[in-house]
Amino acid sequence: MAQCDCGATAGPLGVCADYYNTILAEEQLDPEMYRWHAVVVCVYLLQHPSRGHERHLDGQFRWLQFYLDRGIDAVLRLREHQVARNNHRSRAGYDMAPLEPYAPLPAGGPPARFRTSFCELPYGDGGFVLDGHAAYGERMRALAEATEEAWKRLGPGS
Ligand SMILES: [Zn+2]
Repeated sequence: MAQCDCGATAGPLGVCADYYNTILAEEQLDPEMYRWHAVVVCVYLLQHPSRGHERHLDGQFRWLQFYLDRGIDAVLRLREHQVARNNHRSRAGYDMAPLEPYAPLPAGGPPARFRTSFCELPYGDGGFVLDGHAAYGERMRALAEATEEAWKRLGPGS
């Protein structure tokens, strides 16, 4: 059986990239599902850092902790705030202050394995939202928790 570079065994749709791309396509048509977009992107890149940019990983790790601490509504509010700030005063840039209390990305990653991965997500009639948005959200939270836990096991950040 094929293995993903995050250490997970491929599922019926393939490796995590296949699951990720299918989620990105589905959420474009489903505003309720799109609420977890930022979480999906952060989890995917923190589980597969070679697909992203190393300099963004620390910020993504802090976003993930912010989400687990404060919930999805707080994530959506902070992103709106940041986008508005960035649009109105381009020099102001993103307001990173809300993310500063969170742990920096530990060195020595990525972790060899995560407790759960994208290619373990159930997929059925209705796509990834086969049993409703609340259940989908719970699965995104479980993925985020597994990602935070594996990175934090590497040790404190620098
Ligand atoms: Zn993977």
